[in-house]
Amino acid sequence: MKRITVLGATGSIGQNTIDLIRRAPDNYDVVAVTGATNIKQLIKDAIDLRADIAVTSDETRLAELRDGLAGTGIEAAAGAAALIEAAARPADWIMSAIVGFAGLAPGLEALTHGTTLALANKESLVTAGPLLMGKAKRLGATVLPVDSEHSAVFQALIGEDITAVERVIITASGGAFRDHPIEALANVTVAQASQHPNWDMGQRITIDSATMFNKAMELIETKEFFDVSASQIETIVHPESLIHALVGFNDGALMAHVGPHDMRHAIGFALNYPDRKTLPVERLDLAKIGQLNFRTPDPARYPALAIADQVMAEGGLSGAVFNAAKEQALDHFIAGDCGFTDMARVVQTVLDVMLTREGLQNATITLDSVREADAMARALTSEEITDTKG
Ligand code: NAD
Ligand code: MG
Repeated sequence: MKRITVLGATGSIGQNTIDLIRRAPDNYDVVAVTGATNIKQLIKDAIDLRADIAVTSDETRLAELRDGLAGTGIEAAAGAAALIEAAARPADWIMSAIVGFAGLAPGLEALTHGTTLALANKESLVTAGPLLMGKAKRLGATVLPVDSEHSAVFQALIGEDITAVERVIITASGGAFRDHPIEALANVTVAQASQHPNWDMGQRITIDSATMFNKAMELIETKEFFDVSASQIETIVHPESLIHALVGFNDGALMAHVGPHDMRHAIGFALNYPDRKTLPVERLDLAKIGQLNFRTPDPARYPALAIADQVMAEGGLSGAVFNAAKEQALDHFIAGDCGFTDMARVVQTVLDVMLTREGLQNATITLDSVREADAMARALTSEEITDTKG
């Protein structure tokens, strides 16, 4: 029996993970499930999976969680400390699928027992890649990527020597506005930005796909996870999103990972690793698909990509600043405080200002220093957005 914990169980990745666990309940012993505001779902999952403990990050919802679990023998807990405590409970496989910077601390904690960490929370690598990967190495923990692109690269690299890799090509769908007139982007709505052309994901990552902030994060994620240089990483727009990534080797070969739009592939690969087991995903009919298309991303449409290059070049805490500014700008966009194109503009400004002011390039990455940079970048982002509005 594999002991499993799912951090962010009630979200899109969490629910897909639970779908796979439910199909083979006898193989898994669920330790902890965590969520935030969807307490009904958290209660249901905890009971269905017979978890030891269910945790909500929202302390005001503890009573509701406790009531829902009364008589089941399942522990209920709430708040940041409880989340950390649950993440630190011994488990063989822990899914890190909390959205945003909030996922970093529990993910770091999850490494404590040298476990296998299935990493969907890309913010952990963007804000603190060296910290997370360094801790995993020290403790003998295995980190497996659960982003579809990174799972694809990981699979293309099995049995290969990383020194034979010339380039890693990350594909991008192009998001909701890949064919929208650039001049009209400033006026698109939150509802329009929340419709992904190919995938069904959480709202935040869907909007991040439209700006390509998601891809920007993934470029940084690639650098941190695979230890390749920024100059080796390329982005290509591939509207069908069937090739998730390609690895180019020194003999000119390109290894492409092709698969359906279904996160249960990347999750299932990580769950069964190092084995491959049958997964309930669609089998592609290539003749029916007919053709696959590729285009170079237009830097004017997707300024986020140049920001990622800058973050990779600067290093240090610039990833933490970038991520915080991006998350904060996204909050403001969702709240209706700023326009779609303001997000990239403000993130760029905050990054530039903080890099000149604070000397973040050379700072040591610790949970505290990342938190500090995160808080400063968020404050500055809100200021910048308020100033522009006023
Ligand atoms: P989601 O919004 O659907 O779910 C997020 C989960 O985190 C929920 O369980 C929620 O309760 C929890 N949560 C939210 N705020 C929290 C907080 N402050 N503290 C603790 N828990 C909190 O998000 P998602 O789409 O499942 O994405 C999860 C992570 O996986 C993100 O980092 C995302 O970038 C990454 N990812 C998602 C996909 C996808 O297809 N959805 C693909 C690749 C990577
Ligand atoms: Mg991805």
